[in-house]
Amino acid sequence: MIRERAYPVEPWHVRETRLDMDVLAQSESVFALSNGHVGLRGNLDEGEPHGLPGTYLNSFYELRPLPYAEAGFGFPESGQTVVNVTNGKLLRLLVDDEPLDVRYGELLSHERVLDLREGTLHRSVHWRSPAGREVRVRSTRLVSFRQRAAAAINYEVEVADDKPLRLIIQSELVANETLPPQSKDPRVAAVLESPLLAEEELTTDDGGLLIHRTKVSGLRVAAAMEHEVQTEARTTVESEGYQDWVRTTIACVLKPGETLRVVKYLVYGWSSRRSLPALRDQVGAALAAARLDGWEGLLREQREYLDEFWDAADVLVEGDPEVQQAVRFGLFHVLQAGARAERRPIAAKGLTGPGYDGHAFWDTEMFVLPVLTYTHPAAVRNALHWRHTTLAAAHERARTLNLKGAAFPWRTIQGPESSGYWPAGTAAFHIAADVADAVRRYVLATCDTDLEREIGLELLVETARLWRSLGHHDRHGQFHIDGVTGPDEYTAVKNDNIYTNLMAQRNLISAADAVMRYRDEAFHLGVTDEEAAAWRDAAAAMHIPYDEEIDVHEQVEGFTRLQEWDFAHTPAEKYPLLLHYPYFDLYRKQVVKQSDLVLAMHWRGDAFTPDQKLRNFLYYERRTVRDSSLSACTQAVLAAEVGHPELAHLYLREAALMDLHDLNENTRDGVHMASLAGAWIALVAGFGGLRDHDGMLSFTPRLSSRLSRLEFSLQWRGMRLRVDVRPQQTTYALRDGDSAETVELRHHGERIRVSCAEPVTVPIPPPEVSGPAPEQPPRRGPLLRLPEREP
Ligand code: BGC
Repeated sequence: MIRERAYPVEPWHVRETRLDMDVLAQSESVFALSNGHVGLRGNLDEGEPHGLPGTYLNSFYELRPLPYAEAGFGFPESGQTVVNVTNGKLLRLLVDDEPLDVRYGELLSHERVLDLREGTLHRSVHWRSPAGREVRVRSTRLVSFRQRAAAAINYEVEVADDKPLRLIIQSELVANETLPPQSKDPRVAAVLESPLLAEEELTTDDGGLLIHRTKVSGLRVAAAMEHEVQTEARTTVESEGYQDWVRTTIACVLKPGETLRVVKYLVYGWSSRRSLPALRDQVGAALAAARLDGWEGLLREQREYLDEFWDAADVLVEGDPEVQQAVRFGLFHVLQAGARAERRPIAAKGLTGPGYDGHAFWDTEMFVLPVLTYTHPAAVRNALHWRHTTLAAAHERARTLNLKGAAFPWRTIQGPESSGYWPAGTAAFHIAADVADAVRRYVLATCDTDLEREIGLELLVETARLWRSLGHHDRHGQFHIDGVTGPDEYTAVKNDNIYTNLMAQRNLISAADAVMRYRDEAFHLGVTDEEAAAWRDAAAAMHIPYDEEIDVHEQVEGFTRLQEWDFAHTPAEKYPLLLHYPYFDLYRKQVVKQSDLVLAMHWRGDAFTPDQKLRNFLYYERRTVRDSSLSACTQAVLAAEVGHPELAHLYLREAALMDLHDLNENTRDGVHMASLAGAWIALVAGFGGLRDHDGMLSFTPRLSSRLSRLEFSLQWRGMRLRVDVRPQQTTYALRDGDSAETVELRHHGERIRVSCAEPVTVPIPPPEVSGPAPEQPPRRGPLLRLPEREP
């Protein structure tokens, strides 16, 4: 299937050159700006038309009851839902006596540009009002990476015909906006009606403030704005305030050629504890800080922040310009989600939309954090601290479930389990091992032993305890983890999911090893030698289901003998299956929603032989429908590893272009953060072959025929390793260390040592002959073809 290209292909920009009302909500997600603390959807300045208005603050949520037709013991009773907070993006414009509304009059030109190096969203509009008056509007918006409470908008209006024009700008803060009704898709968010109670409103000459509180969760939010007005024309500026809105009105008559420029500084603060006066002062201070820098200062700081990020994180792709653009777009959104999250979660949609109620899932630890570990490790440190802050809730959950250690929630904002569907929620225990693996990977890559001692050890220990109590040794001594759900949500509550077992195995060993390194701290956590030995025993005896008859691993015990799904009679429009078939039917057949065993072969590749990987890949590829956006990148990684780089390239494209092409038709609810991170994973772990199984970096670089070059950087123990892959050779260069410093790594199995003094270039061995071509279920092949080659 080939879809129309919505955004022209450019290396550093995402540009929209016409306003298409049908994809307004999608573009609002694509153009969302965030720093991980504040998130503004790319709504038009004047607020309407909109697809889905959205302004979010990380962890600002409301509680709502989780309804059950038939409740059971241990079902979570209330869920957390992200709140659309006070909208401060609004700048309405009255042109003579008509509001600028692109649904009326004529939109003579429209352009929006997301600039990935500047960190801004730029818009230019040339509009003719129904009465025939013409204006040009240019606005630039940013959410500051340096000042996490602050956003700013530079808004300029110019008369575009030859007569003087009266202009009124109404800049607003609006709470409790009306949201479009909820659809039936379980992946969208619950719509909360007027979730905010007014507490205070205040105006000054050039701005104002609103303070509100949520009804049940009791969180308080303050939003404040101030304006700087610049124009040669005479202007009046006035502000007024009411419970749910504050407005600053700027009026003037502009002569042709004159410009009215308004800089709007917008800041947010929220708290569950701070008093109203304290929050009022907090946003006041944030406004002062933003104004001190001024618009130019904020722009400059934003550029500097991003220059530093790209210097360490950029990926160069030659041969597929769409992927080049998409991987940068993906990295930008991943950074936006995590940069200033600071001990708050990184949600599946970041702060770009309300999808999945704003919850964080395992997407964070297994997709987003692997990328940030090597590109922006400070954000990983914070994300792990966030998980650590949820330990109390995870302990409590484990107690409720009669388990030991910590049972992390499948989906949450602040810690408590918010999934009302236990077979794909509570039973997805692998989240514990995912958290543990994120700790292990981060510590390996950074040598941050402080973090390991302070929180890493405890996360490892408490998750190991969970596995030891959840699993059991059978009469032959084999260790089983029964009745769990792995990553594939079409196979639930089964015994011995390989992904879960292998990740738990590593979790148990990592915990036992960490206990050896931090004996005092482990003692304080109550770990005895017997306990750590029991973890090692369980790991050593972990059962790995294998079908000897057909020589493939079983994703879960008994999987290969389940009835086959009738793919031949499943029409294309019945996908995603979860919206058209009952779970009971999906659960009892061989149909795979997303990489599961294949994912295990990526992260625990050390547990499989190359032959097994190939056979498993072919088997599961025929049964995987990719109804989750978390699948394609992993299929890319394994396709590359088992000798199918062309297929890997198609999956790379699917992961990378998920949102730019709206492949799953739900980007409107927010971007797919895991898939965007997956573009990096597909390139770096797929074509670069990055693995870290035994604590050493290893690479097996090999490009698809379309790519002529792939260059990426990894932050590694305070240094930066730059890997430059060409069709025949790879160059490894190390920087940021002193010239004597070296890193030992593996290149296609050979050990090589790279020093800061000089790069090493090594040949890429010719590929081994690949086996039969992998096949997908009918109508479920990769969603995007390769574009025609550039002439
Ligand atoms: C996937 C999960 C994922 C969730 C949030 C679901 O469709 O199956 O693996 O965690 O989406 O992205």
